[in-house]
Amino acid sequence: MIATEREAEKQARIIADFPILAKPTSRGQRLVYLDSAATSQKPQAVIDALVHYYTTDNANIHRGVYELAERATDAFEGARAKVARFVNAAEPAEIVWTRNTTEAINLVSFSWGLTNLRPGDAIVTSQLEHHSNLVPWQLLAAKTGAQLRFIEVDAEGRHILDGLDNLLDGARLVALSHVSNSVGTIAPLETIVPRAHAAGAVVLIDGAQSAPHMPVDVRALDVDFFAASGHKMCGPTGIGFLYGKRELLEAMPPFLTGGDMIRSVSYEETSFNELPWKFEAGTSNIADAIGLGAAVDYLEGVGMDWVRAHERALTQVALEALRELEPLGLEIYGPRSGERAGVIPFNLGDVHAHDVASILDTQGVCVRAGHHCTMPLMRKMGWPATARASFYVYNTERDVEALVAGLRQAARVFKL
Ligand code: PMP
Repeated sequence: MIATEREAEKQARIIADFPILAKPTSRGQRLVYLDSAATSQKPQAVIDALVHYYTTDNANIHRGVYELAERATDAFEGARAKVARFVNAAEPAEIVWTRNTTEAINLVSFSWGLTNLRPGDAIVTSQLEHHSNLVPWQLLAAKTGAQLRFIEVDAEGRHILDGLDNLLDGARLVALSHVSNSVGTIAPLETIVPRAHAAGAVVLIDGAQSAPHMPVDVRALDVDFFAASGHKMCGPTGIGFLYGKRELLEAMPPFLTGGDMIRSVSYEETSFNELPWKFEAGTSNIADAIGLGAAVDYLEGVGMDWVRAHERALTQVALEALRELEPLGLEIYGPRSGERAGVIPFNLGDVHAHDVASILDTQGVCVRAGHHCTMPLMRKMGWPATARASFYVYNTERDVEALVAGLRQAARVFKL
């Protein structure tokens, strides 16, 4: 048992914070939500923050001189300050609101990339990446004449660092996911980032799967850009952020243009607003930014060290329990030793991952199945698809037991 009595009480309190978990499925079962890598559930505090904003503070921001607009602006900018503190940015101006991780990466690709890359420069990424941290670089390489290179991964999805310095030779940008959504690998940033910088490259980290699950300190990591999505970290959909070092953001041209991102406009020309608003054209997603601020408060209340420790322990328990199903044909992927995140991909015999996920669904267990937006990795590994269980603060050993029972049921249905 990983849970002492105090831990069990804390877990029960956390579960009670998420109203959706108290609602039975349409078949009357307990909801066992094991798909937080796709999106997390939302605590009542975040839902309340949205309702509170719309019922008491709603107005457009920055332009209003009346009290209501000032309240909306304060809440919006206050949320930015919370996110800055959460990732230990030097100042709130280094946090730019975006819709999600994908938009944050595209912002860097269009703004920094088109300005800085020349034919023959290299962009280095890895074979693990989500399409969001791959497709923008493919297009950027095609537009600029830069070359796209890959850090290879082994059969367990771990980065192969032999030959890294050769890969980094001529690199202007290194773009890596901190944590793989597909196999749960945690990238060895402590090795790669200093070497990337020594080679003269700027480092962008796709933090979609790390910011929600572990303490992140962008200054200690010494990364130049860091992108994340609110919806995976207890916040609303439609809001995410880009952290960027001030000197880089200052030097970059705007990405989208229009209202709010300007200082002065004449018929002929425009001067741009200061950071971070230079990158926030048009009316922002005010309510959801405030909701993300509430999510950050919630996660800090739980404690990010606790979140990581909880998921690490639960992942170990799950791996051990799932290994007992190996005689039934269960294959588990991802790093077998050392650190891994709370993401467990698997296949059950020759049964298609979608069929496994459908049987689990009949037991109230939600897992994702498919290519997890990492088609090149799946092809490299020779997996047509995988099913994936992923954990968060509200998951417990009871959920692992439900997953194992569901898989035993699937094995019976498919006569394995
Ligand atoms: N990168 C990784 C590692 C992810 O897991 C995801 C979401 N699955 C993304 C990027 C994209 O996130 P979003 O769809 O919120 O932009």
